[in-house]
Amino acid sequence: MSLAVAERFVSINGEGLEAGRLATFVRFCGCNLQCSYCDTRWACDPAFAGCILSVDEVVNYVVSAGCRCVTLTGGEPLLQPSCEELVDKLVHARTAEGQGFRVELETNGAVSLAELAALRRDNEADEMAGSLVFTMDWKCPSSGMTDRMLVGNLTHLGASDALKFVVGSREDLECMRALVQQYHLAEQTNVLLSPVFGQIEPSDIVAFMKEFDLVDVKLQLQLHKFIWPLSQRGV
Ligand code: SF4
Repeated sequence: MSLAVAERFVSINGEGLEAGRLATFVRFCGCNLQCSYCDTRWACDPAFAGCILSVDEVVNYVVSAGCRCVTLTGGEPLLQPSCEELVDKLVHARTAEGQGFRVELETNGAVSLAELAALRRDNEADEMAGSLVFTMDWKCPSSGMTDRMLVGNLTHLGASDALKFVVGSREDLECMRALVQQYHLAEQTNVLLSPVFGQIEPSDIVAFMKEFDLVDVKLQLQLHKFIWPLSQRGV
């Protein structure tokens, strides 16, 4: 089985729970959403085929790159029919030092996480397996994609995962607050707030957090946007 890879590189995680740490990135082609603020539209363009690689070729690349952290991103990685096979092989692979990999799957919230959550449960008893963590987006109103979110995916997020609200307006912040309250999400997983770059001032997000005493959610800024403001690829 093959994978449509848009790009692969080593850089720091720009966001998420491992922000600032070096990771090997594999970005896949294609997405089932069209967010208003998408900054990787080029990888989602159906006319862009990327590079077709086998699962083993991707695993070999990750092992040879040498970082313990691996970030699978997109586009939407879960649209690749071989995504589950790739994740399974990666969590059982070893670095040159014999360590397991920390595999982070970034997903847009509009594709079911059920199969990968089951794979993670199956691997929990395997002491030799590396870890698999989910960073899942929740698309707020300014994305234009809120109605595509799968509420059932929230049940698959645990203490090692992150639910990321990409917020561009006060309406988005209200949406985040309502959902976090309704499902007690901050007790279940890590809740991150990520501003749409250039659309909302981070200080306004902090003001909102103070206004509603949101002590269990975290603001994060996309590091790569500050370090490489003009680059959309390879960072
Ligand atoms: S889910 Fe991500 S890659 Fe897909 S359109 Fe939205 S921002 Fe772009």
